[in-house]
Amino acid sequence: MITIEQLNKNFNGVPVLRGIDLQVEKGRTAVVIGPSGSGKSTLLRCINLLEIPDGGRLAIDQTSLRFGAGKLGHGDILALRRQTGMVFQNHNLFPHLTALENTMEGQLIVLKRSREEARRNGIALLDKVGLHSLYDRYPYQLSGGQQQRVGIARAMAMNPKVILFDEPTSALDPELIGEVLFVIRKLADEGMTMVIVTHEMGFAKEVADEILFMDEGIIAHRGMPEEIFGDSAHERTRKFLIKFH
Ligand code: ATP
Ligand code: MG
Repeated sequence: MITIEQLNKNFNGVPVLRGIDLQVEKGRTAVVIGPSGSGKSTLLRCINLLEIPDGGRLAIDQTSLRFGAGKLGHGDILALRRQTGMVFQNHNLFPHLTALENTMEGQLIVLKRSREEARRNGIALLDKVGLHSLYDRYPYQLSGGQQQRVGIARAMAMNPKVILFDEPTSALDPELIGEVLFVIRKLADEGMTMVIVTHEMGFAKEVADEILFMDEGIIAHRGMPEEIFGDSAHERTRKFLIKFH
C-alpha cells in the first residue's frame, strides 16, 4: 500500500505540490489526470524519490520516510525507491543491450541474482508483455510500442511493490497505444498496485479504481471513474475533460 500525507515539493521556492494526501491500497490502480504543469510528474517522481519532497510523509508498505525534518540517509532513500518501478514516456532502455539484457541488468547489479535466474525471469516477463521471439533485439530494432513493453518488463523484473507510469503512451503513434495499454490493463487485473498519469481518458475510466484530478499542485477532486467522468463532476474537472471529447 502507498500512503502519502501532506506531501510538499517546491522548486526554487515555488510550491509545486501543496499538501498531497493519497492512499492507494494494495492491488489497486490510481489514475492521475490534470492540466499541464499541475504537478502530476512531480508527484510520481516524489513517490519514486527521484525528487526528494520538502515536507510530509511517504510510506510503501512498512517502509516509511518523513521529509523536511532533518537529513535523510542514502540507505533510507534507496530502501524506499526499491519498492517502486517507474515507466516513463520514453522508455529509457539501455541502447547497447538487447531486450532480454535490459530486463536482466538491474536483477544482476541491484538484486545480485545469478545470470541464470535473471535470464529465466526476464524471459518470463518478456513473454508476459507479448515479446516472445524478440529477446535478442536491440532497442533500435523494436517499435515504440515494443520498446515501451520492454520498459514495463524491466520495471517488473525488480519485483516492485508499486509501478508508476508517467504518460506511458504519449510518445507513441496512435496504432501502437493499444498494445501498451493492453499490457498495463493485464497488470491491473493481476493485482499490481499502480499509479498512472495518462491523457487516455477512455483507458483511465476503464482501468482506474480511483481517479485523482490534479490542479495547481493539489488533488482538486477525486473519485470513482463514474463520479469524475459523470455529470456531477466539479466545474474545474468538467472544464478540463471537455478538451478530450
Ligand atoms: P505535464 O502534463 O505537462 O507533463 P505535469 O502535471 O506533469 O505537466 P510537472 O512536470 O509535475 O507537471 O511540473 C509541475 C510544475 O513544476 C511546472 O510548473 C514545472 O515547470 C515545475 N517543475 C517541474 N520540474 C522542475 C524542476 N526540476 N525544476 C524547476 N521546476 C520544475
Ligand atoms: Mg508530466
